[in-house]
Amino acid sequence: MKNYDVVIVGLGPTGGTLANLIAFGGFSVLILEREKSFYPLPRAVHFDDEVMRVFQTIGIANDFLKHTIINKGTKFVNSKGKIILDWPRPRKLTENGWYPSYRFNQPDLERQLRKKLKKYKKVQIKQNTEVQTIHNVKDNVKILFKNILDKKNHEVQAKYVIGCDGANSITRKQIGTKMDNLGFTQKWAVVDLILKNKNKKLPDRTIQYSNPKQPATYCRNVGKRRRWEFAIKNNINEKKILSEKYIWNFLKPWLKKNEAYLERKTIYTFESAISRKWRKGRIFISGDAAHLMPPFMGQGMCAGIRDASNLAWKIAKCLKNEHDEKLLDTYQSERFSNVKEYIETTMRMGEFVNAVESIQITDNITSSTDGLKSMKSIKPKLGAGLGEKNDKYRGKIFPQFKLKNGKNLDDKFSKKPILILSSKIKKKIPSRINFIKSLNAVGLNEYLKKYNLKAIIIRPDRFVLASTKFDKKINYLLKKNFSVLG
Ligand SMILES: Cc1cc2nc3c(=O)[nH]c(=O)nc-3n(C[C@H](O)[C@H](O)[C@H](O)COP(=O)(O)OP(=O)(O)OC[C@H]3O[C@@H](n4cnc5c(N)ncnc54)[C@H](O)[C@@H]3O)c2cc1C
Repeated sequence: MKNYDVVIVGLGPTGGTLANLIAFGGFSVLILEREKSFYPLPRAVHFDDEVMRVFQTIGIANDFLKHTIINKGTKFVNSKGKIILDWPRPRKLTENGWYPSYRFNQPDLERQLRKKLKKYKKVQIKQNTEVQTIHNVKDNVKILFKNILDKKNHEVQAKYVIGCDGANSITRKQIGTKMDNLGFTQKWAVVDLILKNKNKKLPDRTIQYSNPKQPATYCRNVGKRRRWEFAIKNNINEKKILSEKYIWNFLKPWLKKNEAYLERKTIYTFESAISRKWRKGRIFISGDAAHLMPPFMGQGMCAGIRDASNLAWKIAKCLKNEHDEKLLDTYQSERFSNVKEYIETTMRMGEFVNAVESIQITDNITSSTDGLKSMKSIKPKLGAGLGEKNDKYRGKIFPQFKLKNGKNLDDKFSKKPILILSSKIKKKIPSRINFIKSLNAVGLNEYLKKYNLKAIIIRPDRFVLASTKFDKKINYLLKKNFSVLG
């Protein structure tokens, strides 16, 4: 039986990201994907700065950038056409070193992820293969899969298996856990169009039509692509909704039939759910297999990419025997509350678009002098896991400073942990630990001063593991976190 370090079930955006992050460490990875190619039509159309930082780590950000546009933000409009809430996404680089929000066409991302995977000799992708069963056996996992073309079954073994196999995950079933429904379930029609003339005047931002009669969303996507989504009643005839007549009638306020090609029309049930368990032994789930959310904030895929970024380096550490497997328990505990906050915020946004709930989508809504309400993006910390509870910086993403030589922090220390010290105490540190002198990064000195920090330890996924304001605590911090740092 063939042995792999890691088997990944499903090559969607979560599986593709995770495979890239793990393959970088030189591990053997087998990816099993049921479809013969990636899904040619987009579901996700938006991602954020934190996710672009993960793409940077993988090494696809610069190529992929050409296929994206910077998203200017979202306006919420009531049935009378009045703006009732603004969610601007300023054209300014964030602490992650990228713009707050991008629009893209999902097949472009999947192409980039697969292209990069081809560069790793120890990565094998088997398409047309459907995973049937997954079992923990002693220090390994056995995976049985079927070749869909010749119907033959095959068995392989791996040290770890991660199910990135979407909403109906077989891996989740094998773990033997349940999804808890968090309360938002609604059918929406999704219509993708390609404009015939790119100069056609349409809004440059996402618009959420908070109209009780017809809640709807307009998305300004890349190039000539535009998307409309609208809520539909449960008892309505779906065939009628998806008829050209109904769709072009719905689109009347914005488009005439001769102004765009109808690329795709479909109905989704937007759900909000989270799996109780994300791990059993050496088997894990990530992405839609572990959680589902409606797309109002464009965060479902982003959450899967965050899962991949959290889990990949922990699995790599365990494969190299550099850390005991307790480390892997922190995957669910750190990711669960983070993704739950996104799901709950998205649900409140969905209710707001349905015009049945209050504007209080987040705690971060302010009013300007002219009375316009404005919302900020949420950035939840990681849940409990590595690091100490009373360390207020632990679990926050660490800014990607530019180094004085022009490089970015992540490029210089790609996928490695970093120890950052205020310059005075640098001599005490063993030379084999990656550390940077505060003076060599633009703005870092000011950052350390502002928060009065003497040392910070950054994890490979760029979250803060530990920090201290006291010189005398540095040695303790190093000792305690040596298994991550060393
Ligand atoms: C209308 C809509 C709009 C959205 N917009 C956004 C957005 O703008 N931004 C955002 O971040 N998210 C968005 N989302 C959510 C996003 O699309 C999903 O969260 C994301 O695609 C999930 O990726 P995944 O890789 O976890 O799962 P999937 O993309 O579902 O991939 C799972 C893969 O596993 C394979 N598979 C399944 N079972 C097996 C098996 N037994 N054996 C082998 N292979 C298997 C499947 O073939 C598939 O390729 C949107 C969703 C919808 C419906």
